[in-house]
Amino acid sequence: MSATLIDGKAFAATMRAQVAEHVARLKADHGITPGLAVILVGADPASEVYVAAKHKQTVEVGMASFEHKLPADTSEADLFALIDQLNADPSVHGILCQFPVPDHLDERAVVARIDPAKDVDGLSVVNAGLLASGETGLVSCTPLGCLMLLRDQIDSLSGLEAVVIGRSNLFGKPMAQLLLGENCTVTIAHSRTRDLAGVCRRADILVAAVGRAEMVQADWVKPGATVIDVGITRVPHPEKPGKTKLLGDVDFAQVSEVAGAITPVPGGVGPMTIACLLANTVTACCRANGLTEPEGLTV
Ligand code: NAP
Repeated sequence: MSATLIDGKAFAATMRAQVAEHVARLKADHGITPGLAVILVGADPASEVYVAAKHKQTVEVGMASFEHKLPADTSEADLFALIDQLNADPSVHGILCQFPVPDHLDERAVVARIDPAKDVDGLSVVNAGLLASGETGLVSCTPLGCLMLLRDQIDSLSGLEAVVIGRSNLFGKPMAQLLLGENCTVTIAHSRTRDLAGVCRRADILVAAVGRAEMVQADWVKPGATVIDVGITRVPHPEKPGKTKLLGDVDFAQVSEVAGAITPVPGGVGPMTIACLLANTVTACCRANGLTEPEGLTV
């Protein structure tokens, strides 16, 4: 392997330590404890694991964690009543509803119900619009985490060619906006892109967020490029029967011989998502209380 390994796990740990410092200062100087409320509707096993990880890390950095586990048949009216209550609660600075929600609930309506100032997932149309307009809002956690890794890795992003594969509202679009904000020349590729490999080869920064295991091959990558692998696919473990392992969208073994720097899966982008969620909650808390925002926790 010739590429530099971008250690998202270590970077996220440093970020959580920074968050914990700010939380301690908010408590000591202002008597304020940032609070994050997480809503889980139903008992999807993967979602339960994510929610438990969020709770654990929220508590570890000294913030208040409010978990609301609702039955799978919760009506929209009852879910909205809870969101309204959390919107009005001054001890709650961030609210997120873990997706997917059961089919009878509309994810867009759920996000729209959350006060944009507490939308720490950055998924509302208000926050997406603020990002697209270059104004201050709350930025979607995974793209924010990727930008932090890129800024740490590359001295100046200005003028670089960036290609983002994937155009979801959750990741691809906000990632492209963030890179544009850094003065990159940005291309968004997707399932209808012609000559995807050729488009990717132009990239100084290649960000893959598709969900197709090892799709990005070595000959898609410009020598020396920085490669950020967001994709996660769970596959049967080749050596351990009955076990699974995670694969990214990038053929790590081959691409790491060509790229200048690369994130692994797991241990790359994944840990940054919760770290950025905690950072966004501190940011939202400072804004709600008219306090100066800590540096380095958002863009
Ligand atoms: P998504 O909504 O399914 O979007 C996938 C995107 O990939 C779409 O824009 C789709 O294009 C594009 N695509 C599909 N097949 C393609 C192909 N053959 N060539 C080029 N583009 C193709 O997924 P998402 O929510 O953005 O997530 C993407 C991946 O990132 C998933 O594996 C997800 O698990 C992972 N993820 C990880 C984290 C983390 O914390 N690490 C967070 C978020 C997401 P069309 O629009 O044309 O259909």
